[in-house]
Amino acid sequence: MRSHLCNRCGSCVGLSNGAIIFQDKTGEYRPVIKGQISDKLAEILWEACPGKSFNFPSYREAFYPDTPGFHDFIGPYRQIGIGFAVNPVIRQQGASGGVISAVLIWLLEKKMIDGAVVLGMSKTEPWLTQAFIATTKEQIMEAAQSKYIISSVNDILPEIEKFEGKLAYVGLPGQIQSIRKLQRMKHPSVRNIEYIFGPFYGNTLHFSSVTSFLRSYKASDYREIEKLYFRHGEWPGNMRIEMKGGRVIELKKFHANYLIPFHILRNSLYCTDLTNEFTDLSGGDAWAPVYEERGKGFSMIISRSAKGDEILRKMISEGALQMNAISTQTAIEMHSHGYDFKKRGSFIRIHFRRMLGKAVPDFGYELKGFGFSRYLMEVVISSLFILMGTKVARWTVEKFPPGLIGGIFERTRKIWKKSTYNIKRKEL
Ligand SMILES: Cc1cc2nc3c(=O)[nH]c(=O)nc-3n(C[C@H](O)[C@H](O)[C@H](O)COP(=O)(O)OP(=O)(O)OC[C@H]3O[C@@H](n4cnc5c(N)ncnc54)[C@H](O)[C@@H]3O)c2cc1C
Repeated sequence: MRSHLCNRCGSCVGLSNGAIIFQDKTGEYRPVIKGQISDKLAEILWEACPGKSFNFPSYREAFYPDTPGFHDFIGPYRQIGIGFAVNPVIRQQGASGGVISAVLIWLLEKKMIDGAVVLGMSKTEPWLTQAFIATTKEQIMEAAQSKYIISSVNDILPEIEKFEGKLAYVGLPGQIQSIRKLQRMKHPSVRNIEYIFGPFYGNTLHFSSVTSFLRSYKASDYREIEKLYFRHGEWPGNMRIEMKGGRVIELKKFHANYLIPFHILRNSLYCTDLTNEFTDLSGGDAWAPVYEERGKGFSMIISRSAKGDEILRKMISEGALQMNAISTQTAIEMHSHGYDFKKRGSFIRIHFRRMLGKAVPDFGYELKGFGFSRYLMEVVISSLFILMGTKVARWTVEKFPPGLIGGIFERTRKIWKKSTYNIKRKEL
């Protein structure tokens, strides 16, 4: 809980009958023990925690025994493609191609589920996220789009347990790893979960990203936020804040990415799952100039389990989804930057942590054998994360217009990507 291994999935909070709470959601957002925990409950919480360990090979065998495709970077897969929701409203409101929302709506309309666990924005504190069970198309649409601040979907496990009917569940890799652990334990809290979907996951940010963003625009009180969007408008969208009194603050998503090194949740640096490998079906952005130029919204879709694949096939044949298959090599090239960050960088960072005598996660597998230049590159990247995460750096960046910093960030990132192209492509 107190180390950087906690990904804030929320399972310990949800399962603890109020003994553990998230105390400071606009601050460190850490689970804190407030009441008595029996030995039996402690054992369950320890087992359900994905931060310290999650054995990828073992869970793959347990949940995807018949899945024919596997790649170290992508996980188990059946089909990989680029696609989008054919319904233009769903596509437009989704983070990328609206695929996850379209799948949930399709399942609901076919009565294959009675509800979907999704992440919306809080009604009472609209600057924070709130997981809930959506039982209508409108509620699923309301929860569409990516939220880039720390969110703990699994703190609603008691509601999930009480729900009468079948559920689909949407979460980030860490949250899903905990759900898979609970499913394997046959824990009652997850008995209703029939399908698991999720977005790709590069990183998530502390709430300080929002307050810092506001301060850059000379707006100091986050409680004045009426609506907060991370991907508003046409793909790839804008970070947009609507304040009480009518003020609107908006910045291109690619420019708002400048917040990442200043506010990244450290656990994101030790997560080795980019494509949400333990879902039935997962989706990410189709990052390639050919799609980005067209706007509108394109997703990369990966089906993994037999039931996830069947949903994909049926939705395509019924005209609810459009998808063109791509090879694993094309898929890897499209996210080579992300794979380098997660499947090389994370393992090197874990190695550094181990050398410093700190606790490290055990994923049951390790990728290694990277060249000296990649280690050197990681020293630079990790040093930058440490430097830029300091109060002084955060304070300094707030003195400049975000449009300017965002533009510089986008250009620097392009140059950096280009100059490290060979290091990163090696053995991809
Ligand atoms: C924190 C985060 C980091 C990401 N990093 C990358 C990346 O590096 N590369 C990449 O290609 N794609 C990344 N994505 C995925 C991408 O932003 C889109 O979510 C994905 O392409 C699916 O788009 P969609 O239009 O199909 O989803 P939508 O139809 O918009 O549905 C998204 C679903 O995800 C749920 N959701 C949104 N945010 C969260 C959250 N924080 N926790 C749990 N559930 C959530 C929503 O409730 C909704 O049901 C990230 C997403 C998130 C949330």
